[in-house]
Amino acid sequence: MNYRHIRLPENGDRVTVINGRPSATDQPIVGFVEGDGVGPDVTRASLRIWDAAVCAAYGDKRRVHWAELYMGEKAARLYDGDFFPRETLDAIKQLTVAVKGPLTTPVGGGFRSLNVSLRQTLDLYARVQPVRYYAGVPSPMRHPENVDAVVFRENTEDIYAGLEYESNSADNLMLAEFLRNKLGANFFEGAGLGIKPISETASRRLVRRAIQYALDHDRESVTLVHKGNIMKFTEGAFRRWGYSVAEEEFSESTITEQQLWTEFAGQRPAGKVVIKDRIADIMFQLMLLRPAEFDVIATTNQNGDYLSDALAAQVGGVGIAPGANMSDHVAVFEATHGTAPKYAGMDKVNPGSLMFSGCMMFEHLGWTEVSALIAKAFSSVIAKGQVTYDLARQMEGATELSTSAFADAMIAELGT
Ligand code: NAP
Repeated sequence: MNYRHIRLPENGDRVTVINGRPSATDQPIVGFVEGDGVGPDVTRASLRIWDAAVCAAYGDKRRVHWAELYMGEKAARLYDGDFFPRETLDAIKQLTVAVKGPLTTPVGGGFRSLNVSLRQTLDLYARVQPVRYYAGVPSPMRHPENVDAVVFRENTEDIYAGLEYESNSADNLMLAEFLRNKLGANFFEGAGLGIKPISETASRRLVRRAIQYALDHDRESVTLVHKGNIMKFTEGAFRRWGYSVAEEEFSESTITEQQLWTEFAGQRPAGKVVIKDRIADIMFQLMLLRPAEFDVIATTNQNGDYLSDALAAQVGGVGIAPGANMSDHVAVFEATHGTAPKYAGMDKVNPGSLMFSGCMMFEHLGWTEVSALIAKAFSSVIAKGQVTYDLARQMEGATELSTSAFADAMIAELGT
């Protein structure tokens, strides 16, 4: 494929997807978008750490060949004002794996969020966010080490689908009249209206992915989080379709929580994943009080949005929370935080969120040794109190490091 500005490395191989699973050689090409605001700082630091960790794990045998792709302000400079160039999308589809820094949503001018556009255009339907604790990281919890969950959030529908009708607009009045006159709905005059689509297709593919992840990673349970007691035909349907996927497609490898107690006296049989569900509001309480009971979580878009940020706060905040957006073919690993414009170019913020998103990327490629080494080095650096400002302000006696100095400390710890 001929690109205008993108230069794919001459050496290296595309990561392919075989039966829904990524297949990488020892020399994969991975795309990266450095992002806006603090994006260049955290991307530069993370690339150095990732390369050092690959070298520490495999010496010369393996290497990532990075391909820079452009979105956001850098793209606009290169592509005559285009923040979301078509060829970047084509390259991500071709490469199947990319990491991405945060992007600004330009204010005004009718721009949609670039992140939302990317997710919708590539149908990145699963937002995957692992939440685990690293010893020494400041946390508001008494036992943050009990938090070890992976949230699978449906990424394409729910009230985020963009089906909203402004109070008293022509479309709003038409819809209001239909709802009142044809369906007998009752609500205040002039109410803004929004639609919450939850489909069987989107619910099933999300829960299928969460269960497959639990099986692949030897996790104990998948909890379906929903508000089905109130919204029966959307949230309740998500729950029902979730259980159906488990029963119809994973009957050999899953049991329900009810079966766990009626057939197995509360003892999970080896190799079986327990499928359970919880109502969203109680889930927030349970994740604070008894987080050890939860493992993989599958939920609708809005619940997942709130829950994943709340969980991130329990183990150190957005500065270190990683995430990925995935379709059946493409995986984009990205920082959870935004562009933090007041810190742009100051070499100040924590690169942990992007760095750990990269760890997810290495696990996706099957290079688990790399992510294990990064996690180990991070724990050592934290234990020495070598942290960026966000953690330093919560830790007594810590040494505040810049983004690049934190990367240096990590690389020294990796011993390369
Ligand atoms: P933000 O950029 O995430 O920043 C909010 C605050 O979070 C910062 O002021 C800082 O807190 C803390 N923070 C963020 N990144 C950090 C890091 N790496 N290390 C340590 N602390 C960090 O959120 P925002 O100010 O609401 O959004 C700014 C822009 O980012 C907007 O244009 C928004 O659209 C965009 N955004 C993009 C993405 C994405 O690309 N995925 C996601 C969210 C927002 P303190 O001030 O307390 O130091």
